Amino acid sequence: MSAPNFFPPATRTGHDQHGRYPQALTLADFQHNLAAVQARMAAACQRAGRDAASVRLLPVSKTKPEASLRLAHAAGCRMLGENKVQEAWGKWESLQDLTDLRWSVIGHLQTNKAKLVARFASEFQALDSLRLAEALDRRLQVEGRALDVFVQVNTSGEASKYGLAPEAVPAFLRALPAMSALRVRGLMTLALFSRDSARVRQCFVCLRGLQDQLRHSAPAGMYLDELSMGMSGDFEIAIEEGATVVRVGQAIFGARAVPDQHYWPGLAGPVEVEGGAGQPLHPN
Ligand SMILES: *Cc1c(COP(=O)(O)O)cnc(C)c1O
Repeated sequence: MSAPNFFPPATRTGHDQHGRYPQALTLADFQHNLAAVQARMAAACQRAGRDAASVRLLPVSKTKPEASLRLAHAAGCRMLGENKVQEAWGKWESLQDLTDLRWSVIGHLQTNKAKLVARFASEFQALDSLRLAEALDRRLQVEGRALDVFVQVNTSGEASKYGLAPEAVPAFLRALPAMSALRVRGLMTLALFSRDSARVRQCFVCLRGLQDQLRHSAPAGMYLDELSMGMSGDFEIAIEEGATVVRVGQAIFGARAVPDQHYWPGLAGPVEVEGGAGQPLHPN
């Protein structure tokens, strides 16, 4: 994972492809897209001198209808990521017959919805406050369940992004062992949504650096082995920088009709393009 970068770094992300991925409509489409993403993941691992088995693909099914989720399952997906808990809950209810399908909630959660996550999710990747951690733990204790959690970190410095500031993470982690139903697995981030790969890479480097730093100071028994970073437009860069989980939606399911700002507050327009015609997203 710490292999030096012998490969020429990509100079552009795929974030300008957002909204352009063809819809996956058949089982063959899903099989093809999954194989293509996995091949790109394996190539990125090879460039970085990493074992391909060290990175997990989390397919993200948000906005997609139940029929698409069934096709994804038929193509081999056994865990799906959803950004909004209400939507995830509805899908969980209607896909009860797929008994081996598990759910990862990857988006910001209001404390008053912790109850829902505690009931059905196997994983929660957007832990960003003590109040939420306490609410989740309380509800999980009631349900007699445990939950794998990732602490979300704001690595881009954008005020609009959810997640803890990197410097707030050590103290936050120290409070978590008291909540025995939460199994802290690692850190999660959303990179800057930009075409400029150097600036996107910087976000991933930041998360990896934080993990290295925390390895020494994290509470006993907390290993922080996982780094969830990278999505359709930037997962290869994330893998090069140490991702162990990539969250990929559109490259598997096809473009989303729902605008991304519905899921990522602050995303105001087309992707940031250096010196291009696009409306800059972020003022820095
Ligand atoms: C939607 C979403 C993704 C996946 O984005 P794609 O562009 O569809 O790959 C990843 N992470 C989070 C938190 C998301 O909400």
